[in-house]
Amino acid sequence: MSEKSNHYKVIVIGSGPAGFTAALYTARANLNPAIFEGMQPGGQLTITTEIENYPGFENGIQGPELMDIMRKQVLRFGATSFYQEVTAVDFSKRPFIIKSYDEVFTADAIIIATGASARLLGLESEKKFMGYGVSACATCDGFFFRNQKILVVGGGDTAMEEANYLTKFASEVTIIHRREEFRASKIMLDRAKNNPKIKFLMNKVVKEVIGKEEDSKKTMTGVLLEDTKDHSTQVFEAQGLFIAIGHKPNTDLFKGMLDMDETGYLKLKSGSTYTKIEGVFAAGDVADKAYRQAITAAGLGCMAAIDAERWLETQAHLHA
Ligand code: FAD
Ligand code: NAP
Repeated sequence: MSEKSNHYKVIVIGSGPAGFTAALYTARANLNPAIFEGMQPGGQLTITTEIENYPGFENGIQGPELMDIMRKQVLRFGATSFYQEVTAVDFSKRPFIIKSYDEVFTADAIIIATGASARLLGLESEKKFMGYGVSACATCDGFFFRNQKILVVGGGDTAMEEANYLTKFASEVTIIHRREEFRASKIMLDRAKNNPKIKFLMNKVVKEVIGKEEDSKKTMTGVLLEDTKDHSTQVFEAQGLFIAIGHKPNTDLFKGMLDMDETGYLKLKSGSTYTKIEGVFAAGDVADKAYRQAITAAGLGCMAAIDAERWLETQAHLHA
C-alpha cells in the first residue's frame, strides 16, 4: 500500500473509551478518523464483567458489550478501524508517520489513547479468574464483594488505598505483601493499620488462585500462598483477590518524543490534551494517573477530539 492511500486527517491510537470517544467526535466532525485498535480491541473493560458506574446503563452492562456498542457507534459515523498495533511513530515530520509492522500510514493529527495496563502477577489462574473474583480495580469491583473476605496484593499506596476502600464492602480485607517493609507512605500505611477490618500477611506471595467451575460458572474460593522466607505454603480462603502492584502506562512507543513523568505517564499542557508536539494529542489513562475510570477516559477522548478539530482548523495549508 502506498503512503498516499493511507493518509488520514486524524489517526487515533487505541480503542478503549478514550480512543472510541475521540473517534466518535472526530468522525462526526467529518474528519474521517482511522482507529488502530491494538492488541486489546476495546481496551481494559474487555477483561472485566459488570460495569455499574458508566452513566446511561441503569442496570449496569458487561464490559465487552459496552465496548462493542461504542465501536458500532463510532463505525456508524464512518470511522475506519484497523485491528492492528502501531509499532513505530515519527512525529518529527508532517504529516506524522505511523507504522504498523511494514505498513506505513500518515496523519495530519494524532490522538494517543493507548491506556495503561494494571500490572498483574502473571499467573495462568489469575487470568482464568479475572472478573470472577480477581480484579485490578477496587473502585470498579469492590461493590460486588459485600460481606466477603478479600485479599489485596501489594505494599504501596495503591494497595493501602484499595484495602481501605474495600472495607466499605468486605467483612475482612487482608493485605498480602512480599516483604516486611512497605513502599507505602506512612500516612496511608497508618490509615490501613488503624482500620479494624484490615489484616496484614507479610513475606507472602500468591502462587495460585484457587476456584471452581460449575456449569461454566467460575468462582474463586481462595489462593495458595508461599512464604518468601521458609517457602512453606498455605491455602487462604477468600472470595476476592485485588491485585494492586502498580500500573504501567503504554507509552514505550513515544519515549524520547513526548514528555512523560517519572512513571511514564504522558504530560499534557495544563487544562488541555495537547502534548508538547503540536498536532499530537493524548487522552485517557495514558495521561491520567489520578482517576483511571472509563468515564474520565471517555471525557478526555472528547476533549482531545475537540482540541484536534480546532487545531486542524488553524492549519490553513492542510485545507489547500
Ligand atoms: P484502555 O481501555 O486501556 O485502552 C487502551 C487501548 O490502547 C487498547 O485498545 C489497546 O489495544 C490500545 N493500544 C495500546 N498500545 C497500542 C499500540 N501500540 N497500537 C495500537 N493500539 C494500542 N473503569 C470504570 O469506570 N468502571 C469499571 O467498572 C472499571 N472496571 C475495570 C475493571 C478492570 C479489570 C480494569 C483493568 C479496569 C477497570 N476500569 C473501570 C478502568 C477502565 O477500564 C479504564 O479507566 C479505561 O478503560 C481507560 O480507557 P482508555 O481508553 O484510556 O484505555
Ligand atoms: P508502587 O509504589 O510501585 O508499589 C507497588 C507495590 O507492589 C510494592 O509494594 C511492590 O513490592 C509490590 N509488587 C510489585 N510487583 C509485585 C509482584 N509481582 N508481586 C507482589 N508484589 C509486587 O505502586 P502503587 O502503589 O500503585 O503507587 C504508584 C504511585 O502512585 C506511587 O507514587 C504512589 O505514591 C502513588 N499513589 C498515591 C496515592 C495517594 O497518595 N493517595 C494512592 C495510590 C498511589 P516491593 O515493595 O517489594 O517492591
